[in-house]
Amino acid sequence: MQIHDLIGVGFGPSNIALAIALDEKRHQGQFVDALFIEKQPGFVWHKNMLLDNAHMQISFIKDLATLRNPSSRFTFLNYLHEKQRLQDFVNLKTFFPSRHEFNDYLGWAAAQFEDRCAYGEAVFEVVPEMRGTEVQMLRVRSRDAVGAVRERLARNLVVSVGGMPNVPTRFQPFQDDARVFHSSGYLAAIARHPKAERIAIVGAGQSAAEIFMDLQSHPNKPEVDLIMRARSIKPSDDSPFVNEIFNADFTDFVFNRSGPERTELLEEFWHTNYAAPDLELIQQIFNVFYRQRVAGVARHAFLRRHEISTVRATPDGIHLSLHDLNTNQRRNKAYDAVILATGYRRDSHKTLLNPLASYLGDFTVDRNYRLQGTPELKSGIFLQGACEMSHGLSDTLLSVTAIRSDEIGQALLNTQPRTTQTYAAGRSPYVATVL
Ligand SMILES: Cc1cc2nc3c(=O)[nH]c(=O)nc-3n(C[C@H](O)[C@H](O)[C@H](O)COP(=O)(O)OP(=O)(O)OC[C@H]3O[C@@H](n4cnc5c(N)ncnc54)[C@H](O)[C@@H]3O)c2cc1C
Repeated sequence: MQIHDLIGVGFGPSNIALAIALDEKRHQGQFVDALFIEKQPGFVWHKNMLLDNAHMQISFIKDLATLRNPSSRFTFLNYLHEKQRLQDFVNLKTFFPSRHEFNDYLGWAAAQFEDRCAYGEAVFEVVPEMRGTEVQMLRVRSRDAVGAVRERLARNLVVSVGGMPNVPTRFQPFQDDARVFHSSGYLAAIARHPKAERIAIVGAGQSAAEIFMDLQSHPNKPEVDLIMRARSIKPSDDSPFVNEIFNADFTDFVFNRSGPERTELLEEFWHTNYAAPDLELIQQIFNVFYRQRVAGVARHAFLRRHEISTVRATPDGIHLSLHDLNTNQRRNKAYDAVILATGYRRDSHKTLLNPLASYLGDFTVDRNYRLQGTPELKSGIFLQGACEMSHGLSDTLLSVTAIRSDEIGQALLNTQPRTTQTYAAGRSPYVATVL
């Protein structure tokens, strides 16, 4: 069985950026034999949230490569150039391409690593490969769409699996009910309810706001209630001094603080990323409610300061018992569909790595995103997108992707001088070790 220097779990932006960074290192004569495993059948970026009017919430300059290497061939600008849209894009006068276009850019970059990615396989566990008392390697087990299990060996692992839908406790018993679904599955799920007339959206963030506006153009013209505990929808603050927290050097600043200081920083800037839609979107939503007041038809409701105390499913709808925290009144409302725009969890690496838990302690990472293990653990295990508590709010976003992938790539090369081969640029990058 071939042993890879590195297996990357997931092939979203984080690991595509890593593939690019490693490709650049290969051209500098440093080779890491990397294979990525992606559960989707092909690349697509948050496919069920590729809404018609959605655009990026970050400058295209924070693409997969530019901040590390503006002359990389994997920049968004080079993508535009190759697609012959560079001049037209200039005339758009925006830093924020549509999400559709950025998805196309990411897919264009991913396609250049087709030979290094196994699509259609979900990694379900990583087990230690022992030599005596030492974990010398990692056995990565994945399952394809028909249930067949595959195993591969790696000296190092990078887990970049993104977020998993966060489903509030009250809704967990209804996960098999097609009328209750998370925003991450929105487009596919709403297509299964073309006749839904009463829809609830739970949440106050960007996804909730985008879905509310998307439903405005739904042919069925549903009544949509926006339900949130917050007093108001607050905009994300992307003003320049605040935005500095997403600069790459801020990662060092956060990492070098004490635990309580990091928590304080996260709390202070939490609203830059969470429960904070774009101002423009908030204005559009306000306009919808204003126009319905002019028309005198209360089609949609803005249920702020509302808590959902119970959920019940019957053939005629999903019944929510709503507690108005302002007036302390309670009422029940039935919906044909309930959309949970309730964010994402970032802990699924712990499930994948559970067989290694005794070597990993409390899953602390070092500055280069490497999990700190016991001395027996010889393999490097790195995390992308799950280090917000130690590295700051940029960790789950695209902000530092180009820089972080280089830091991890360099750490990989430093970690494995014996097994990661160096060869003269232009010569064959063949590295095969037989177990
Ligand atoms: C709707 C939406 C819009 C966003 N817009 C922006 C934005 O404009 N700007 C910004 O900075 N950030 C945005 N984000 C944040 C987002 O996290 C990052 O943009 C980016 O997707 C992070 O890349 P990633 O590769 O770490 O994670 P992901 O993009 O989530 O990719 C993870 C990949 O791993 C795969 N995977 C998961 N589990 C397994 C497994 N067990 N085995 C194999 N493969 C697996 C998934 O299929 C997926 O392809 C947005 C997030 C969402 C949900």
